Amino acid sequence: MPDKPLKILITAGPTHEPIDRVRYIANRSSGAMGLALAAAARDAGCDVTLLLGPIGGAPPEAIRTIAYTSSHDLTSELDRCFKDCDVLIMAAAVADYRPRTYSDGKLPRTGQSMTIELEPVPDLVARCAADKRAEQRIVGFALEEPEVLRRRAAEKLQRKGLDAIVANPLKTMGSADIDATLILASGESLSPGVLPKDDFAKWLVEWIQSDG
Ligand code: C5P
Repeated sequence: MPDKPLKILITAGPTHEPIDRVRYIANRSSGAMGLALAAAARDAGCDVTLLLGPIGGAPPEAIRTIAYTSSHDLTSELDRCFKDCDVLIMAAAVADYRPRTYSDGKLPRTGQSMTIELEPVPDLVARCAADKRAEQRIVGFALEEPEVLRRRAAEKLQRKGLDAIVANPLKTMGSADIDATLILASGESLSPGVLPKDDFAKWLVEWIQSDG
């Protein structure tokens, strides 16, 4: 009997945090890394579900894709999908803050200055880690300035309760390449060198399959 394919849940892209019906707070994530991971996992024979943020363009072919827009939507999808996966790869650039209130219309222009109060977005990957079964694994991402990258990524791995974290420098955003280090909960770290995102994705999927 062949082994069952590994069930991988991947999140990718930014979140849009609504202010009113026409405005939102977003970030510059292109979703490229998460899309590359989804394609690499599919090609490696995994059973992939992709939770894809608002990146524009068509969803990838032959991958079960569920679209989300805000951190609120992504929370609901993770609540629904996380329990069924073996591995969660949390590549989405989830907002750290979102508007505390939502105006169900269009806020008028008044010519006066205005203040939008922001509230922290719950740490979604930490919530999944707190709920995970012993055999489930979670890989997070950390994007930081190079000088503080390793220290902050290792600290996030611990604080969020992850099995591994991909530490990548700020210049990864919008670039075709990635110069990442995979830091493991054991303290060990692995660096495949500078690679095109597609090749890094294949490397990470191979590591996930061999580590299982
Ligand atoms: O804390 P920071 O945003 O740098 O951590 C990045 C990691 O945490 C990524 O894996 C991201 O998907 C996840 N994250 C999250 N919920 C948030 C913010 C980030 O799951 N509100």
